[in-house]
Amino acid sequence: MLKFKTVRGMRDFLPEEARTLRYVEDAAQKVAELYGFNEIITPTVESYELLAAKSGEEIRSRMFAFRDLGNREVALRPEFTASVARLVATTLRNEPKPLRLFNVGSVYRYDEPQNGRYREFWQSNYELIGTSKPEADAEILMLTDTLMRTVGLKNHAFRIGHIGILRGIFSQEGLSENDQSAIMQLMDKKQYENALTLAAEKGVSEKGVAVLQSLVEFKGNATSKVVERIMNIVKDYEAAVDATDNLAKILDLIRKSGYTLDVTIDAGFARGLEYYTGMIFEVYVYESNLALGGGGRYDRLVELFGSESTPAVGVAHGIDRIMLALQKQQKQCIKNIGGVAIIPTTEGLKPEALRIARMLREAGIPAEAEVMGRKMAKALEAADKRSLDFALIIGEKELKDGAVVIKDLRKREQKIVKIEKIIVTIKNAPHEN
Ligand code: AMP
Repeated sequence: MLKFKTVRGMRDFLPEEARTLRYVEDAAQKVAELYGFNEIITPTVESYELLAAKSGEEIRSRMFAFRDLGNREVALRPEFTASVARLVATTLRNEPKPLRLFNVGSVYRYDEPQNGRYREFWQSNYELIGTSKPEADAEILMLTDTLMRTVGLKNHAFRIGHIGILRGIFSQEGLSENDQSAIMQLMDKKQYENALTLAAEKGVSEKGVAVLQSLVEFKGNATSKVVERIMNIVKDYEAAVDATDNLAKILDLIRKSGYTLDVTIDAGFARGLEYYTGMIFEVYVYESNLALGGGGRYDRLVELFGSESTPAVGVAHGIDRIMLALQKQQKQCIKNIGGVAIIPTTEGLKPEALRIARMLREAGIPAEAEVMGRKMAKALEAADKRSLDFALIIGEKELKDGAVVIKDLRKREQKIVKIEKIIVTIKNAPHEN
C-alpha cells in the first residue's frame, strides 16, 4: 500500500484553518478597497532571472528554481514585488501614476521549517507606485495598521528604519553596492558584530565603524528627540542626514494626521530584500518576535526592468503568521458556518428531502441533505457535531399536512412548520453566529 504525507515545509489547511486563512484574505481585500488598491493576479511561476534580480542573496538561494520542459529557467515566486515591478515596467507602463496594486496568494521559499516559517506561505501585498513622497510611505504604514485592526489583533507595534541611513554611510565610505548588501544581510540576521567586522575589512574607516556601532545600538520610541539623536550620530554623512530627514517627515505626517502608531525607530535595522532604498519597517505583536509583515521603499527596482524612474513603496503581510497571532490571542474570528440538516424518515421521502434542500439553497440558506441513509437519531447527532443550526425532519404524517418538523439544534426545541414557512422561520430565528 502506498502511504503519502505532505512534502517537508508544505501543509494541508483543514476546514477551520482554511476558513481562518480566507477570513484574513477577506480582511486584506477589504483594506485594499478602503485604500484604493486594485487587485491583480500574477503567475506563480516567473522567470528565474526576474525573481533573482535584486531580491537579495538570502531569498535568491532559497528559491524553488527549476527548468520547465521548454528548458526555460523559472522559479516559484518567493514574493510579489518583482512580478508587480515587471508589470509596471511593461504592460502598465503608460498608466497614470500613482498605481495602487494589490496581490494575495501563496509564495515559496526553501526556508528551514519551524514555528511560523514554512516553505509555502500566504501574503497580502500592496504596492504604491510612482511617487517618492513621504505621504505614500505614511499610507503604507497606516494601511498595515488598518489591516492589523481589521483582523482583530491587539497590541501590534512597528519597527522602522531607513536603508538610506546605512547606505549613505557605506557609500560615503566608498563601499561597493555588493559589499553594502553583504553587510546588511548580516545586520538583517542580527549578526551585528560580524557585520561591523566585515565593514572594517571592506574599508570603512574607524570613525565610520563607530557611527555604525552607535546606530546598531540605538533604538527608541518614535519621537522627535530620537530622530534628533540619530541626526547627531550621522551628521557627517550627507546622504544619511537626508535619509534621517525623510524618516522624520514620514513619522511627522502620521503623528500630525492624528494617527497613533506604536513605533520603535531602529536605525541599524536592515531587511533581507536587496531592492529597498528608503524607509523600511516590520510589524509585530508584543507576545511574539515573528514579524507579521514587512515592507519599505524601493525607488529603483522598476527602472531596473527598463522603465523610466519609478519610485515606489510597498508592504507584504504574512497571512500564516497573522493566523498564528490570532490563535495566540484566542481571537474567535471564525463564524460558525451554520446551516440546516434535512433528514427524510423513509426511503420514499428522499426526493422531498432533496426538493426542500434545493428550496433552502435558492433562498441562500446552507442545507445538507442526508446522504448516508442514517436513521434519524444518528443523523441528528452528526448535525449537532457539525454545529448546524437546524434539522428538518421529513415525515409521512407531517407531510400529509404540507409540513415538516423543524428542530432548533441550539435551543433544543422543535415544532411543526408548513413547508412554505420554513424559510421565514429559519431566517427570523435569533441565532447569534
Ligand atoms: P518579506 O517578503 O521577506 O518582506 O516578508 C514579509 C512577511 O512574510 C514577513 O513579515 C512574514 O510575516 C512573512 N514570511 C516571510 N517568510 C515566511 C515564511 N518562510 N513562512 C511564513 N511567513 C513568512
